[in-house]
Amino acid sequence: MPKEEIVIVGGGVVGCAIAYFLAREGISSRIIEREAIGSQASGAAIGLLAPLHGLDVKSPLMAPALESFHMHAKLHDELEAETGIDVQYGQVATFLLTLAEEEGNYLKALIPHYKAMGLEAAWCEPEELKEFELNENFRGALGYSQHQVNAYRFNLALARAAELRGVTIQHGEVIGFRCQGKRVSGVTMKKGEIEAEAVVLAMGSWSRFGGYWLGNNIPVEPLRGQVFQLRTKEQIRHSFFYRVFILPKIDGSLNIGTTMEFAGFDNRVTPEGRDFMIQGAVDIMPSLLNAELIGGFAGLRPLSEDGLPILGLLPNWENAYVAAGPGGKGILLSPIIGREIARLISRGSSEIDLQPYNPARFS
Ligand SMILES: Cc1cc2nc3c(=O)[nH]c(=O)nc-3n(C[C@H](O)[C@H](O)[C@H](O)COP(=O)(O)OP(=O)(O)OC[C@H]3O[C@@H](n4cnc5c(N)ncnc54)[C@H](O)[C@@H]3O)c2cc1C
Repeated sequence: MPKEEIVIVGGGVVGCAIAYFLAREGISSRIIEREAIGSQASGAAIGLLAPLHGLDVKSPLMAPALESFHMHAKLHDELEAETGIDVQYGQVATFLLTLAEEEGNYLKALIPHYKAMGLEAAWCEPEELKEFELNENFRGALGYSQHQVNAYRFNLALARAAELRGVTIQHGEVIGFRCQGKRVSGVTMKKGEIEAEAVVLAMGSWSRFGGYWLGNNIPVEPLRGQVFQLRTKEQIRHSFFYRVFILPKIDGSLNIGTTMEFAGFDNRVTPEGRDFMIQGAVDIMPSLLNAELIGGFAGLRPLSEDGLPILGLLPNWENAYVAAGPGGKGILLSPIIGREIARLISRGSSEIDLQPYNPARFS
């Protein structure tokens, strides 16, 4: 059996970020992935780096989300220099639209928060939106510059950069652990077994199963998101949101997303999802009725029971860690999750307060 130090289960953006930051600390690890790097949620994500979207400014997650947002600004350059992979980090002018005054007030109150992040943000009156040929019922919009990456490329770049720093990526399905007292000593796969100095569960929507193997409750449910791609005659250069996102990506494709559905582990697109998304996009921009539907994909967001990530050492274990449940913010949060779990493993303490994310809150 090969002797390994740290075994990370899962080659999504979370597992690969942990391996990458561990490698930066000089610690080698082995990622075990049963399908392919970025084959699940991380490869299906729309790639917005949006701390303020859908997150309460009073949430404990806000400060780490903002820090991770700023980490992305440096990380994409470092990853490209190390791997040659362009993660298509960039900005797109975005308009969060409103039909109602009350909602408009909520959006206006966010403007100082966007500015504090260093982003341009301003309120747009309906006449300022006219050039975009939107549904005329909109009563205004919060306009700001939205940062994004290509999530799949970002996942691949993390994996490649980790590999170049000595991390091993192995194909295999983990089915359990071998344990001695309060320590995990080995990882059992469908084919074979490896020794482990420590293990990290970065299993996305499947994290609950890793918890079962170690007698822990890791309450993560899959929340399906469907995304559809359109081709338009005139290129759309701005992003709009009202119930659905119309998002031009850096490579020129136009994404429409995303649904939020509890559909078990079914990660397929559906006719209902497609119709709902396309109707939502047409409700924003009627001319999209003439757009050509060129593709669609879906993925499972790993959503924790209380909406906060589950990060840290598992209760009753000395060397079993979990990094799960970032929900719809895993691409944004992966740099800080990677850095913090790596520090916890290598130095025994984290830089930020991980208490709100302590796995013990569910035991
Ligand atoms: C449609 C959609 C849009 C999204 N948009 C955004 C966005 O704009 N911004 C943002 O920040 N986030 C977004 N997200 C959320 C983000 O994608 C997730 O939070 C993030 O990808 C989770 O990463 P992960 O590594 O935890 O999970 P995953 O990417 O699902 O990776 C887990 C990996 O573990 C592997 N695995 C599981 N069990 C085993 C086992 N027993 N043995 C070996 N391997 C195993 C799986 O095969 C998988 O590859 C979106 C998600 C979806 C679905």
